[in-house]
Amino acid sequence: MKKRMAVSLFAVMLISALLLAGFSSTKNENKKARHEQKNTEQPIAVQGAMDIEISALLKEMKNYKEEQIGNYSFYIGKIDKIPVVVSRTEIGMVNAAASTTLLIEKYHPKVIINQGTAGGHDPNIHVFDTVIGTEVMNIGSMRSEHLDDGEGMKPETWKSMETTMRENGEKVEYKSFKSDPKLIKAALSVADKYSHGKVVEGKVGSADFWNREVDRIQWFHENAGTSVEEMEAAAVAQVAKAFNIPYLSIRTVSNSEVSGDKIEDLETAGQYGAEYAVEIVKAIEK
Ligand code: SAH
Repeated sequence: MKKRMAVSLFAVMLISALLLAGFSSTKNENKKARHEQKNTEQPIAVQGAMDIEISALLKEMKNYKEEQIGNYSFYIGKIDKIPVVVSRTEIGMVNAAASTTLLIEKYHPKVIINQGTAGGHDPNIHVFDTVIGTEVMNIGSMRSEHLDDGEGMKPETWKSMETTMRENGEKVEYKSFKSDPKLIKAALSVADKYSHGKVVEGKVGSADFWNREVDRIQWFHENAGTSVEEMEAAAVAQVAKAFNIPYLSIRTVSNSEVSGDKIEDLETAGQYGAEYAVEIVKAIEK
């Protein structure tokens, strides 16, 4: 009798264990499926500051829904069945930071591509060449040494300041922010589709400043190693880093004081850059 009870107790325990194992494995599978679903539904975000930098993307999406938050517009749609949110950041570092924060909070993008026009710093980079910004730097973040009343201003002696981030409670200093290697690879993989100039890897400098002084441009190029300048990339990269979202900077040169090109054409460069961004979106999902 005792033996029979022990056997049935054992059977009950075995069945419960099997049921539990089955239950927890379906629970895990559900969790995994939810995770995968979230990943596939998370959009690729592509930003441009001005209409001329996003219109080619909107054209490619055909149908999209526009949402506005404050000063900022977001266009939700698809490129080749890939969920995309195009974001018009408006011009400058503050707009770029604010709209990127909203973008991340509201649309949870899996990656952020910041693209648009730029001015050349490298004499070998010409108007309509496109720079894959492997690194972006805030070139407006500077400090000067003390000079007395009447001693004037000496911009060439100004020093770059690093950007302080907080990581796991600790302060970490950044001289620049790097684009995500996988996104750089995706951009390079479709470089042959860009036919308006060369595609090169380089360093993007950002500040609320449009430099036209050749000596100052050369100074940045030599001291900071910048290839081009614009007004958004470093702000976006900093916010993307703060939220750990993979980031890519792409800039098409629209003007240069140092390349010998006598062209300043933001509209055409904006269109070429956005068309290349479309190819990059497709390459990311391949
Ligand atoms: N024509 C525009 C001015 C654009 S402001 C107007 O009046 O509204 C500059 C924008 O173009 C920024 O979004 C910046 O990222 C980009 N840009 C292109 N060339 C630049 C350069 N040489 N210096 C700084 N920003 C540049």
